[in-house]
Amino acid sequence: MIDTKAFRTLSCGLYLISTKDGDRAAGCVVNTLVQVTSKPPRVCVAINKDNATAQAVTRSGRYVATVLAQDATMELIGAFGFKSSLEIDKFADFVTAVDAAGVPYVAEQAVARFSVKVAETVDVGTHLLFIGDVEEAERLGEGDPMTYAYYHAVKGGKTPPKASSYEGDAADAPASHEDAAAADDEPAGPRVGWRCTICGYVVWQDELPDDFTCPICGVGKDMFERFVEE
Ligand code: FE
Repeated sequence: MIDTKAFRTLSCGLYLISTKDGDRAAGCVVNTLVQVTSKPPRVCVAINKDNATAQAVTRSGRYVATVLAQDATMELIGAFGFKSSLEIDKFADFVTAVDAAGVPYVAEQAVARFSVKVAETVDVGTHLLFIGDVEEAERLGEGDPMTYAYYHAVKGGKTPPKASSYEGDAADAPASHEDAAAADDEPAGPRVGWRCTICGYVVWQDELPDDFTCPICGVGKDMFERFVEE
């Protein structure tokens, strides 16, 4: 038998993989970065074949892996985790840097980064496994790394969030969270919310306009589910 709950007990972090394919930067969020040897220092990462980042790494032979900080925002995770590098410049809204090989990476909301030169690529079915030599490694911050469990339980990732904890993040964010602010003025009582089933973003209002799109992951109204908080 295969009990999928067993897989959820595996510990892993949340990482941003970036690379450059010609003039175009590409990046995505994964939970599949693993150190495989220390002498020499080698890591591997599995990236979905359909992802523009996998295709870009295949062509460039290099990637930077940053370890996301525990306080990384849903705006960052949403931009890199739920949108395509072919459609938007994911790097535009964030502080970036380049490594010695010229590969760009997001230099904020991360606690470490690794610059990797691909040594071997293994086709594992739906994903490509990029095994590579670490050419540069450094700490970027003193904070704790984000774990996948924390992302789901506290950040409200793909698993439906504790609405109150996510609302805190939304209220702190710089733009387009009027809904969260307005909710503070409402009388106590049942509140209607809409939760994005893809990224967990919550909007507090009775109805969503037909042209509503998730500010985090970009999906339309049909991907939101209505709920009532008593
Ligand atoms: Fe979303």
